[in-house]
Amino acid sequence: MSINRLPGVRSSLNLSLMKRLYSVFFLLLSCGLIFVVPVTASDDPTCELSFSLADWKDNKPAAFVIYSDDSMVRSIKSQWTLENPDVPYDGFFKLGKTYNIPITFFVVPRLMDDAAKGDATHAYFSNFHPPSINPGAGGTWADWKFMHEQGHEIGSHSYSHTNFLPGPDGKPNSSVDPHLELRGAVHAIEHHIGEKPISMNFPYGSPVAEVLEVAHQYTPLTDEDISIDSVNVRKAVYGSDTETQDLIGEMKRAIEAGQCLIIGGHGIRTELGRHEEAAPDFNENGTRWDGYKPVEYSVMEGLFQYLDNNREQIYVDVFKNVSRYLAERKASILTVQSSEDGTILLEVTHNLDPELYDVPLTLKIDTQAAVSHISVYQDGKPVPVTTRNGLCLAQVVPNGGTVKVISQL
Ligand SMILES: [Zn+2]
Repeated sequence: MSINRLPGVRSSLNLSLMKRLYSVFFLLLSCGLIFVVPVTASDDPTCELSFSLADWKDNKPAAFVIYSDDSMVRSIKSQWTLENPDVPYDGFFKLGKTYNIPITFFVVPRLMDDAAKGDATHAYFSNFHPPSINPGAGGTWADWKFMHEQGHEIGSHSYSHTNFLPGPDGKPNSSVDPHLELRGAVHAIEHHIGEKPISMNFPYGSPVAEVLEVAHQYTPLTDEDISIDSVNVRKAVYGSDTETQDLIGEMKRAIEAGQCLIIGGHGIRTELGRHEEAAPDFNENGTRWDGYKPVEYSVMEGLFQYLDNNREQIYVDVFKNVSRYLAERKASILTVQSSEDGTILLEVTHNLDPELYDVPLTLKIDTQAAVSHISVYQDGKPVPVTTRNGLCLAQVVPNGGTVKVISQL
């Protein structure tokens, strides 16, 4: 990678603008948000490097996550029926593949387990009788393993879609042991998918605080936790009455505010699946008796096209990666250890669980256009460096060893 020198950039700025820039610069400096290290004192006094961590991966201004709850198999096989389950994958599968956008599926393991066992009772399923999702409607574990293999995330939506919202007495609506529900979901997903899930979205909404604490023991990342951060996170839902422009509008607002947009909903339907939906009243009302309201395929495709056309501005990833990027970025401290002869040593550290929070963060190096080459190493190994909008970017792992930056004039 090389950078062209741009001599005289500073001198072309007028004095009052310079004063304003300097005051902002020193404000940021005093907040510890950027670190400036003089590389050479004699050759070029304006030559300085400054370091900071990008808000989102690759220094894109915004991030995007989409999730689908309830593991409705018709979301990925719109023509599926209990009698004829072996139909082609479409729906979210096709959208994800066409636009290379990964999706997070919060699944209900009991749906697949009971389907495998032929158990149609769902004795405590959803606290509703009859159960709100019919046995079999989650497809099979093979369906979700297939989606995992396509690069999508399989997270937990509790083992049997249990209602842990606070009841009138402040206790959870369901008396089911939350350990059984939340541990059971993790065990089932790990067993059938082959990877332990670390993300969870609660059915019905925020549970009582004690249950949220139990969830953290099994799935440290929850939608409840990330949603609290309204500065960095913007939420929207999708359903049968959502329009493409609603979702694009939300994404544009997230870009303006430097936020991650998280959109959540249930199923998606295509023309093919329209007449195959689960309940007889579906075609009449556009929604089933239990409120299941899948978004139209064409609506979601409009959003995915927009995302694909604006990738330069949007970091698109699954829930677990974006959640960890945000948590790490907020918790990490960037410290310059030393600077000598164009070699700078940095540390990026946080005190979160290092085994879980090991998603690389994007280190931004502002070269002030005065160096011709930057090399970055972490823990002795070379790290690829890219340039974006005049900045050098390198992915560094917090607590992953000393970062060495070598600059050449
Ligand atoms: Zn649900």
